[in-house]
Amino acid sequence: MADDELEYVEEKAPFYYFKYGPVVIGTARPETKFGDKVIVVHPKDKRYKNLIGKEFDVEWIEGKIRAKVIADECIDMDLGTGAMTITPAHSLVDFELSQKYDLEAPQIIDFDGKIRPEWSKSCGGMPILEARKKVVEILEKKGLVDHIDENYIHNVSVNYRGKGVVEPQIMKQWFVDVNKAVIDWKKKKRSIKEVLQDTVRSKMIRIIPDRFEKIYFHWIDNLRDWCISRQIWWGHRIPVWYCTKCSNSFFSPTTVQKCKHCKAPSISQDPDTLDTWFSSQLWTFSTLGWPEKTPDLLRFTPSSVLETGYDILFFWVARMILGSTYALRKTGFPEEKSIPFKDVYLHGLIRDIHGKKMSKSRPETCIDPLDMIEKYGTDAIRLSLVIGGTPGNDMRLYEEKIAGYRNFVNKIWNGARFVMSSAEPSIKKREDKVNLKKLSRADKWILTRLNEIIEKVTDQIEDYELSEAGLTVYDFFWGEYCDWYVEMSKVTKNPAVLKHVLKTSLKLMHPFMPFVTETIYGDLCPGTMLITEDWPKPNPKWNFPSESDEMGRIMDLVSGIRVLRAESDVDATKKIHAIIFAHEDTALVEDKAEIIKRLANLGTLEIFGNGEKIDKALTTFVGDIEIYLPLADLIDFEAEKKRLHKEIDDLAKYIQSLDHKLKNKKFLNNAPKEIVENEHIKFTEGLKRLKKLQEQLEQISK
Ligand SMILES: [Zn+2]
Repeated sequence: MADDELEYVEEKAPFYYFKYGPVVIGTARPETKFGDKVIVVHPKDKRYKNLIGKEFDVEWIEGKIRAKVIADECIDMDLGTGAMTITPAHSLVDFELSQKYDLEAPQIIDFDGKIRPEWSKSCGGMPILEARKKVVEILEKKGLVDHIDENYIHNVSVNYRGKGVVEPQIMKQWFVDVNKAVIDWKKKKRSIKEVLQDTVRSKMIRIIPDRFEKIYFHWIDNLRDWCISRQIWWGHRIPVWYCTKCSNSFFSPTTVQKCKHCKAPSISQDPDTLDTWFSSQLWTFSTLGWPEKTPDLLRFTPSSVLETGYDILFFWVARMILGSTYALRKTGFPEEKSIPFKDVYLHGLIRDIHGKKMSKSRPETCIDPLDMIEKYGTDAIRLSLVIGGTPGNDMRLYEEKIAGYRNFVNKIWNGARFVMSSAEPSIKKREDKVNLKKLSRADKWILTRLNEIIEKVTDQIEDYELSEAGLTVYDFFWGEYCDWYVEMSKVTKNPAVLKHVLKTSLKLMHPFMPFVTETIYGDLCPGTMLITEDWPKPNPKWNFPSESDEMGRIMDLVSGIRVLRAESDVDATKKIHAIIFAHEDTALVEDKAEIIKRLANLGTLEIFGNGEKIDKALTTFVGDIEIYLPLADLIDFEAEKKRLHKEIDDLAKYIQSLDHKLKNKKFLNNAPKEIVENEHIKFTEGLKRLKKLQEQLEQISK
C-alpha cells in the first residue's frame, strides 16, 4: 500500500509493561515481541545511561534470549518507561532503526496474519489478537508483567477504503523513486518531486480553490518513494520478466517469450499488479495515443480543466501531473505541453440532508441518482449539484432540493413555450436578424442587458463561479426577459429581438440544463442543434446606455405602482386610475404610457409635467416622478372605514391583553426569557400596526 492509502484511527487498547532483563519495556503489541533482542533508549536518559552498549541474558516469552541496549534520539523519554524493544519487521519506525544500526529484521507474523510457528510452540499459527492474549498469559505466569494500562489511546493504521487494520510487513516491492533526477525540466535534470512542486509553484497548473495548493505542497514536500506494486489479481500486471536460467530480470512493454539476455524460454512475468492510481494516472496521455505523437495528443495536451473531488487531489491529480510530465518530456514535448491540464477544479463531497457522508453501509444517507432522474429529470439533478455549490466545499443533497430545481427547470420550459406560442406570427418562422433601424426603447434595453449578461456569465464561468453564473442567466431570463420584455411585447412587438434574446438565453443556459434547452432550441430553430452552436459574444453595436436607463425608470415606475397596489390590498385584476407628474421624463412616460398601463394594470393614466399634491391618494416617488393613485378608485370608502374600525378594535383588545400579561409579575418571574421577550416583540409590533391603521382611517375620513 502507498503511504497515502493509510489512515489512522484512535483506539483504546491496553498498553503493557513487561520486565525485560534490567528494564521495563512498554508495548501495545506483545504478540510481535518473540524475536525482540534490542532495547533502545534515549542517549540522554540518565536512568539507562550505564546500560548503553551492554548485553544481557533475558528471560522472555519462549525462554532465554540474548539482548543488547542501544541509544537513539528517536526515543521519546516520556513515553512509557523510555525504554522499548524493537520489531523491525512489523513497524516502520523500528524498520528504519534496524536499517540505521544494521540489525536483523525477522518476520514474526506471516502474510496470513498468523504467528509463524518457528517463533513459538504455544502461539504458532495463532491470529494476532489471540496470540496477544496468550503472550500476556505466558508472561504473567513467569511474573514478567509489571503492570497494564487499560486506558491507553493509540493510533491504529487502517486501509483508507475497507478500514481493515494494516500489518506492516517487509516485502520486495516496486517503487517510483521521487528524489532521483530523471526529468529534463527547465534546463536541468530534476526529480519527480521537484517537477511536481514546480508545475504548481510556477502557475503552469492552477488549483481551484487555491487554498488546496497549500495542502498540495505540504503533501509533495513530505513525499516518499511511491510503492506501486500490489499483491492483488485485478490491475495492470507489472511488465517485468524474470529468467530462471540466467537469473536476470528485464522490462518489456509487450508480452515476450524469451529472455532478453540469454534467450532462454524459461521466463515468468512478475505476478504483481500496479497500484490502481498508477494505472489511473496514465489516463491523460495514454488515451490519446501516447507514445505516438498523435494529432489528438498534440491538440488536447494540456487540457483546459480537470474537474474532480478534493479527496483525490493526491491519489489522482498529483499522480497525473507526475506521469504526464515524465512520459511526455521523454517523448520530446516541451515543458508547457507536457503537463496534463492547466486548471484543476476541485468540487466538494456530496453529503446527505444532515451533512453526513453518503456511504453504502448506511443506505439512509444515500440517494440513487437514477431514481431522481426518473422522477425529476436529469437537468434538475444537474442544477441541484451546480447551484449553491462552491469549489472545495461539501454540499448537501436531498430529494426536496432536487424537486425545487425541477420547478426551476419547469419555469424555463414554460417561459420559452409561452414566448413561442404567444408571439404571432410565430417567431419560429421568423429570422432573428436584428434591424438596428427598427428598435424601440424596450428592444434597445433588452439587447443592452443581453450584452451585459453574456459578459457577466462568461466571466463567472471563466472564474469557476458556476453557481453564480447559473443564477445570473436564470434571473435574466425569468426576471427581465419573461417578466418585462415579453410583457412589453404585448404592446409593441419586435419578433426578431424576441427570438434573438430567447435563442441567446438558451445558449447561456445550455451548460446548466442541456436537455431542456436542447429540446426548446430544436423546436425554435428546427434542424439545428444547440450543442454545436458557438458560445455567445456581446455585440458592440447593441449598447444603448441612455435608452436602457430610461427603460429602467419606466420599470421602476411600474414597480412603484405595483407596490402601492399590493400594500393597500387592491385586487390585482382591478383596473385603476393613476396620475403621474413626470417632470423631465414627461415625454418618456407619455411615449411608454401604453406599456405602463398594461404592466401596472391601469384603466386610465393621466400624465402631467407637474401639479399640486393630490389628497386622498396613495403616493410614491420614483426619482423625480410623482405617482398618485386616487383612493376613490381603489376602495369602497364606507366598507373600508367599517373594516378598519373593526380591525382597530380587535387589535386594541389584543394589545391590552399583552400589556396585562407583561405587567403580571408571576408571568415575568416564571416564564422562560425567550417567551417574555417574544411577548414584548408582539406588543411593540401591535402598537406599530395600530398606529398605521389609525393613519389609514384618518386618511380616508378626511
Ligand atoms: Zn536469461
